[in-house]
Order: sequence, then C-alpha cells, then structure tokens
Amino acid sequence: MHAQFQRAVFLTAASDLRAAPPDEGFEVAFAGRSNAGKSSAINAICHQHRLARTSKTPGRTQQLIFFRLDDQRRLVDLPGYGFARVSQAIKANWQALMGRYLRQRGCLRGLVVVMDIRHPLTEFDRQMLDWGIAATLPMLLLLTKADKLKHGAQRQTLAQVRRAVGEIAGSSPVPVQADLFSASSRLGLDAVQQHIADWLALPTEA
Ligand code: GDP
Repeated sequence: MHAQFQRAVFLTAASDLRAAPPDEGFEVAFAGRSNAGKSSAINAICHQHRLARTSKTPGRTQQLIFFRLDDQRRLVDLPGYGFARVSQAIKANWQALMGRYLRQRGCLRGLVVVMDIRHPLTEFDRQMLDWGIAATLPMLLLLTKADKLKHGAQRQTLAQVRRAVGEIAGSSPVPVQADLFSASSRLGLDAVQQHIADWLALPTEA
C-alpha cells in the first residue's frame, strides 16, 4: 500500500543537529535501547534487509541516521543507548544530542520507541517518554520481539504497558500508544506502517 517505504535510502548521518538535513517536510524518528530491535523494525517497515544496520558497535551510537523516503519525508534512526560501560562523557553527549533533536526539530511528526517486549519501560524508555511528552510529540511504543512470548503473555504485557503509559502520559495533549510488533513474524507491521504513513501524511499509492 505504501510503496514509499520500500524506496527508503540512506541520506546522511549527523553527529550534530547542524549537520542534519534542512528542517523541513516531515520526519518520524525511531528510538530504542541498544539491542531492543530498532534496526530490525526499521528494516521490516521498509521491506529491506540492510537499510538500518543491525549492529552493536558502540561507536555508531552517537549519530542521527537519516533515511529519505521522498523529497519531503524522512525516517530517522536515533542513537541507541544502554551499553553498560559507556563513559559519563558519552552519556552526556548522547543526552544533549537527543534532547536537542526532540525539542528543536520542527519537522518531527512522531516518535516510535522500540522496546523488547521482555524488558519494557526501561529507564531509557521512560526518559524517551518524558522527552516526547515535554516536546508534545505523538508517540508509538512498539513492543517488539513479540514472537518470543506466547499469545497470552503478549496481551498481558501490552495491557500492563498501556496502563503504565496511561499513568505517565495521562495529561499529555498528544496521543501515546502502545502496540505489539515482531520483525520476525511481521506481527503489527501493517498497523505501524499505517501509523507512520499518517504522521508523514504519505499519499496512498494504488
Ligand atoms: P538494535 O540494536 O535495537 O538496532 O537491535 P537489532 O535490530 O540489531 O536487534 C537486536 C537482536 O534482536 C538481533 O539479534 C535481532 O536479530 C533480534 N531481533 C530483532 N527483532 C526481532 C524480532 O522481532 N524477533 C526476534 N525473535 N528477534 C529479533
């Protein structure tokens, strides 16, 4: 339905907002603790295998990676976080970059927070939620690797996360939603594509 996702190509990597593409058009960003499954989610959404690199190299964690869908629309892979031994300096740099991007990026229309369904709402995820709420960003929390749990446990975790998010984001003027996802089984793929397409105002193609 949304063939634009398949046309996603790497545009640029920026370690600072000044190196980012011009702040115009529409962007949807992906955040996730390292190893949560963010790259796999981006690749599944774009029907590509190697667009976002499923890599665990700490050196790559400090850049914003921009993928172009068309002249006006981009997906952004935000730096992951969660390596046990990163220095305070790297952590501070990461926080500053993420904070600036989420607060100042005018074209940002929505934030997808990817969480491993077996470890939802980590400190990282709560920080993202706080930043997103402060920036009045619509958010979608993806409980990925859902295939790792049985159906009943999936639904139970989803209900718990929705309850917790309701408490955290109860007074948020913008929607914060949570859904199941699996890059392996493609559970939830259509729904997340539709969500992002709406945020990006993607025209439907025949
Ligand atoms: P990232 O660091 O957040 O970008 O995480 P990756 O996408 O590199 O995934 C981390 C690990 O989880 C890799 O070994 C993936 O193969 C695995 N993984 C990612 N998504 C899924 C999923 O939906 N199901 C399962 N079973 N494994 C997944």
